[in-house]
Amino acid sequence: MSSESSDTKTTFTSPIRAPSSVPVDDAVIPFEVNALDLRGRLTRMGPTLDEILHKHDYPPAVGKLLGEAIVLTTLLGSSLKFEGRFILQTQSDGPVSFLIVDFQAPDRLRAYARYDKRRLHEAKDSGALLGKGHLAMTIDQGPDMSRYQGLVALDGGGLEAAAHEYFLRSEQIPTRVRIAVGEEFRGGEGGKHRWRAGGILMQFLPKAPERARQPDLHPGNAPEGHVPHIVAEDDAWVEGQSLISTVEDVELIDPDLSGERLLYRLFHERGVRVFKPLGLQARCSCSRDAVSSMLKSFVPKERADMVKDGKVVVTCEFCSSVYEFTRQEAGVEEAS
Ligand SMILES: [Zn+2]
Repeated sequence: MSSESSDTKTTFTSPIRAPSSVPVDDAVIPFEVNALDLRGRLTRMGPTLDEILHKHDYPPAVGKLLGEAIVLTTLLGSSLKFEGRFILQTQSDGPVSFLIVDFQAPDRLRAYARYDKRRLHEAKDSGALLGKGHLAMTIDQGPDMSRYQGLVALDGGGLEAAAHEYFLRSEQIPTRVRIAVGEEFRGGEGGKHRWRAGGILMQFLPKAPERARQPDLHPGNAPEGHVPHIVAEDDAWVEGQSLISTVEDVELIDPDLSGERLLYRLFHERGVRVFKPLGLQARCSCSRDAVSSMLKSFVPKERADMVKDGKVVVTCEFCSSVYEFTRQEAGVEEAS
């Protein structure tokens, strides 16, 4: 095998090979299409998503929405180059008033949602479940680094629309996001359903920045008679968008279609290069010690108010773990 002389140096860092047909779940695959100046990431989720959502026993519509938020978080947060945290949260006036997804690099995910059961029937889709409000994305790279927060309005359009709006207004990077979440029913296991999801984020990053200008920025309060400046979209970006628009929800979720094959299906004519997948796992960072020090941060009166049947019980909203403390452990003085 190693009979080649040592001066035969391979200059290809990523040799051309056939796309793997082995589906890999719970991973993010970074990719690039150099011919079109496109870069992106593809997420496929199975057991990890199922584990997060099943801990909460959400109604299907809430589970699906939170699944969408989880996929969006993996698409955005997996670009963190350092150990750090990416937190996506929404606050809005729809039946799902609050949701949070916490991604801790390199691979830990946790999430939960708050919702009003009585109002769920009002909403027909994810946009209506959220209603109006805002979506916040926070990047926290540790105590020595500054925190970054991006905000975008939610206007009834759902998470894909909010992501597009964010990249258009704040980052000014032409971006397309597609997300799909579904339930897979398998016989033979008592008819249990499992959550699956997939998503793709694609960005146009040409070397010449003027090629990335976006035509659909509102002109603002331009004087009357102002003729809007028409910016033609770059041909490469037009082609990229038309390719990604062909992705079907079932392809994003399909447990038998590998992520690499899906990318190949989309971009093979232009040549697509995939990088090492990044794994994902459902793991909460709560612990008995952390809950204990949180309890100690309350004033004695508040701690005393938490006692029920002689103990303090704290449930982690992210993972539903239950922590029990005696009065003494919780630092509650015996009533004299
Ligand atoms: Zn937890």
